Amino acid sequence: MNKEPLIYELSSPGRRGVAMPEPQVPTTKLPKAMLRDDLNLPEVSEMDVVRHYTQLSRQNMGVDTTFYPLGSCTMKYNPRLNEAMARLPGFLHSHPLQPEASVQGNLQLMYEMQTWLAELNGFTATSLQPAAGAHGEFAGILMARAYHRDRDEGERDTILLPDSAHGTNPATSSMAGYRVVELPSDERGNVDLAALKENLGPHVAAMMITIPNTLGLFEEQILEVSRLVHECGGLMYADGANMNALMGIARLADLGFDVMHYNLHKTFSTPHGGGGPGSGPVSVNEKLAPFLPGPIAVKEGDQYQMEMPEKSIGRLKAFHGNFGVVVRAYAYFMAHGPVELKAVSEYAVLNANYLRVKIGEHYQIPYDRICMHEFVAEGKLAEEGLRALDISKRLIDYGFHPPSNYFPLGTPHTSLKVHEALMVEPTETESRQTLDRFAEAMAAIRQEARENPDLLREAPHTAPVERVDEVHAAKNLVLCRTV
Ligand SMILES: *Cc1c(COP(=O)(O)O)cnc(C)c1O
Repeated sequence: MNKEPLIYELSSPGRRGVAMPEPQVPTTKLPKAMLRDDLNLPEVSEMDVVRHYTQLSRQNMGVDTTFYPLGSCTMKYNPRLNEAMARLPGFLHSHPLQPEASVQGNLQLMYEMQTWLAELNGFTATSLQPAAGAHGEFAGILMARAYHRDRDEGERDTILLPDSAHGTNPATSSMAGYRVVELPSDERGNVDLAALKENLGPHVAAMMITIPNTLGLFEEQILEVSRLVHECGGLMYADGANMNALMGIARLADLGFDVMHYNLHKTFSTPHGGGGPGSGPVSVNEKLAPFLPGPIAVKEGDQYQMEMPEKSIGRLKAFHGNFGVVVRAYAYFMAHGPVELKAVSEYAVLNANYLRVKIGEHYQIPYDRICMHEFVAEGKLAEEGLRALDISKRLIDYGFHPPSNYFPLGTPHTSLKVHEALMVEPTETESRQTLDRFAEAMAAIRQEARENPDLLREAPHTAPVERVDEVHAAKNLVLCRTV
């Protein structure tokens, strides 16, 4: 790789990227105490800055440059149309404190998005407040708590969840003050019903389940699970991060759920992965509708306004959630319509099953049954003494972003019969040619593992940063190359 000089090496005293226009207002000097003279910033031209950031961006992998099968994260193509829509001046330049009469279009968009999200899973109402999936979970659990307190059952102190759950599920539950009980999974990757029954009782506030679960499997006994939890007075919470598998095919309310969150940035295509912004709306049935976080958009005659639900758990976010992400999701809904949204899920599931079978020729697939939008392969190659991480790092040399590693957490930490998960989610936007190239790379790596395991152990060989000592790197963060 051609090593561009570092931006600090290009610095030349007095060089400027922009010429500031003469101010149109009288100037005043900042107080001396607010000024510092030790700020070591490079003095460079605009082109130097553009090259600097473009170089940096090329050292990264992204959906726009590579196949990115990072399981559970739904790294699908983000249509540029959504970006154009989010930048329309009426959306971009509106302010949440403007009079409602002057932002009727924005409120209508929020109202329709609430309605569509509720309808997609058979629910009654939606709040767009939460800023991410984990934030939606937190809203959901706070609503469950408010619901139980409202019925004088505030002593319920336990949230049940399967051991395949995403880490945010137990984190959310304990942040909301609950005791978390983790349930084992059975041979087929479903929640173990016997263990569930043993842990049910008047202490249960809710059960949280990801559906399809993080093994990429549909919970085959979900109706029975919902029935049992409801029978003891608990609520059913659905982590809807995996909605890319189910749109137009199954509705979570029909499966017995009372509340769910969406990850708009995943399923409905907003660029994500760099830490945000996201959007995690919560949809609920009539039991929980009065407790929704607010304000939410309502329609009176032909006017739209923001209102606080009757027994709302309150605000979770300044103003009205991450509006720009909602606009992108709205554009995605509009561009696809109900028939195509269903096709999105059908192709996502088809692509995952195609890869599951192809990769299954070379790797062990611990739960080898029809999967949903993702599947888990065993990444531990015991005979060669190789780890999931070694396979993933070698994939970088082949030009692919690795799958999710070590999630869900396997043996011996959980009851799951996988040791080191490689969780692969291809998404519907990838072509068969790309899936074939990925499967061929995985096969080639399996062969290399037998013939030259060090090649994997020392990978990646072509990336700007080679294999780092993860423990050391985590303890001694070095975030810049120089100075
Ligand atoms: C991504 C994800 C979450 C968390 O969502 P964020 O938007 O990242 O907060 C929760 N559960 C599952 C299963 C996920 O994949």
